[in-house]
Amino acid sequence: MPKKGFITLTVSEKVYDHFMDSYMANKKELCHRGINSFSAYIRYNMEQALMKTNPTVIEKISIDKQRAILQDNRTGSIAVVRLDPIFCESCKKNTCSHVGYAYSIPEAYPLKS
Ligand SMILES: [Zn+2]
Repeated sequence: MPKKGFITLTVSEKVYDHFMDSYMANKKELCHRGINSFSAYIRYNMEQALMKTNPTVIEKISIDKQRAILQDNRTGSIAVVRLDPIFCESCKKNTCSHVGYAYSIPEAYPLKS
């Protein structure tokens, strides 16, 4: 039984194995981006898919080293996402769609050598 506010999703072992293999192969880089668990990795992939199917849902207004300012076209509001540690000031949580979008902004998480 999942905790309150969560649901259980069933996928085939083949799908699970695909994503788990990808997660394990990229775990170190994902950690640098604030993706510290397999469930966070799945959430990240779902957010990426959402952005691809409807790329104008959330748009970047500006970004600096501390925060991203985003336009949320679903609500017509502005969202502020603190980047380190990542946290959405607008939703008061670290698992909303604004956080997922912030993960996808290359300037927010430049590749570390
Ligand atoms: Zn948010």
